[in-house]
Order: sequence, then structure tokens, then C-alpha cells
Amino acid sequence: MDHYTRSSFNYFAALKVDRLSVRRLDPDWIRKQIREGRSRIIPVWRSRNLLAGAEELKPVLLSVRDLDDAPALEDHAVLLGCRGDTVYFAVELPEESEGIADRFGGGARFRELREAGPLLGAEDGALLAYARAITYWHRRHRFCGDCGSPTRSAEGGHIRVCTKPECGQRHFPRTDAAIIVLVTRREAGEEYCLLGRQPIWPRGMHSAIAGFVEPGETLEQAVVREVSEETDIRVSRVHYQSSQPWPFPASIMLGFTAEAASSEIRLNDGELEHAAWYSRADIAAGLADGILRVPRRISIAHRLVEDWFDDGNLGPLAAHLPASPGSGTPATNV
Ligand SMILES: [Zn+2]
Repeated sequence: MDHYTRSSFNYFAALKVDRLSVRRLDPDWIRKQIREGRSRIIPVWRSRNLLAGAEELKPVLLSVRDLDDAPALEDHAVLLGCRGDTVYFAVELPEESEGIADRFGGGARFRELREAGPLLGAEDGALLAYARAITYWHRRHRFCGDCGSPTRSAEGGHIRVCTKPECGQRHFPRTDAAIIVLVTRREAGEEYCLLGRQPIWPRGMHSAIAGFVEPGETLEQAVVREVSEETDIRVSRVHYQSSQPWPFPASIMLGFTAEAASSEIRLNDGELEHAAWYSRADIAAGLADGILRVPRRISIAHRLVEDWFDDGNLGPLAAHLPASPGSGTPATNV
């Protein structure tokens, strides 16, 4: 399987819209689309998405008629792209807008995408992740990082431009790169993977090692450094696995596997409160006893553990998981 295909199976990665990057340069076309009956607006309020349903969730998509202040919409709607004849926009609603959910029935309310993700279809989840990420960027970049003057949205919401004429700096949406790596080790015919936990995570939750890429380093160097900083383990043979948009708030997770070149764990930087080597049997037993939890299915961390576990002789990881999807935590990719 090539990496393009492998990544497409990750949550929030199944985006099927054409991003219409050339159309972003045509404000008249964008204005017309916002007013068109076929266009759909994805509302975002305090980084939450408007969802209806219970067991299975669907995004509530608005038309221009559902929003009170349509002229202002043209200044801050973000052109996401189109799927078939439908053009999608994302709009950040003002603080006082929570009540808008009551207009739509079906139990519609603003929900945290990280919690709701498993109950959404893959394409819907990807579209909402895109909307969440880009509206978050707009909210956090209302002022120019160079001169401090206000910025305004341009090119369909895909850049912000400084309003001070002598500056005019163009600011582009940013995505923070974070690596996540499952380190494995073989000893006396048994295979182990390295899992650790942060103190703020739910009881028993353990995950792969993760951290942000720093300026001036490659992704692979970030893998080696993070594992060393957090566990003192030296790694070799770093392999890219897949990537995942992770808009909580603005990351892309870059998944790796690596082989350990040492085995003694020492918690170096205080980020983890516990880390250990787990065989597949350890994981199966921990899950069965309820003393170990693995990251939720929506995370690439789960994917890394699952791909490794399923390669062994204890069957698929899914068969060992408790009936509920399990609860992760907002802190990182778990
Ligand atoms: Zn400026």
C-alpha cells in the first residue's frame, strides 16, 4: 500500500472536496456562491461543530438565509471547496451564537469534534476538521505578526493581509507538525513496543511517543530526539507510516515506526509519568483486566499500535478492545 492510500484511512483524512484554489482569487465568484441556494455553510462556534443525531451524527449545514448578518459573511466566510455541485464555506460564529442550534431540531448542538469524531462518517469528519482548523487560524491571527496592525481575510479566507499600507504582509494558514512514533524492540524471540503515559490522561491510558517538530530539524531527527528526551531510548531505522490532520488545535500528526537500539527506559523530561515495553500478550492481558487503555480509534496513535499488534499471532487488536470506543483525552493524539 502506498502512503497516499495508507494515510487516507486515518480519521479526518478522507476529504473529498475540490479545494478550488484558483477560484479563491475571484471575489465576485465567491460572493455569488455565498448567496447561492446550493452553497452550504459549516458553522463553527468556539471551535465546536454543529452536529445533529445521537448514535450516528451528521453535520448541520446552513444556507445564507440561516444567518443573521449576511453582508458580514462575505468578509469572513472561508471557501473550503466543492463536492459535486455543492460549494462549502466555513464560518466562525460570534460568541453569543450558541442558541442558533435550537433552530434545527434533531438534537442539534455544538460539539467537540474530537469527542464526536467516531460517530461521524469519514468524509463528514474530514470536512469538519478542515473547517475547524482554518477558522481557528483566523481567530488567532487577527493582527499582523510583523507590525501589530489588524489583518483582513482575503483569497476566500486562505490568507490574511495586514491592513497597514506600508506593511501589507500576507499571512498564510499555519499547521504545526508533530511526530508520533511507535518504537519496537525484539528480545529472545519476543517483540515489544514502547508505550508511555502523561499524568493528565485517563487512568491506564498509554500511547506512542509524540512531540512537536522543532525549527531546524528533519521529521526523522524529531523522532529520535523526542524518544530520547522522553524515555532515554536510542532509536534506529526510522520509517514513515502515514499522516493525519489533527486540528486540536492546528497540527498534522506524522506517524512513524522505529526500532530501538537500547532497552533501558529512563524518564528524562518529566512529560511522561510512566513508560514501559509491552508485548502483544501484555497489551491483551492489560486490556482484558481493564488496567490498560490504548488510544482511541480516531487517533493515528491507535493506528500505529493496531498495525503492529495485528502483525502478531493474537489476532486483531479490535477483538481485544472493550465494547465502547474508549475515552481518550484532549491533550494530545490519544
Ligand atoms: Zn503588518
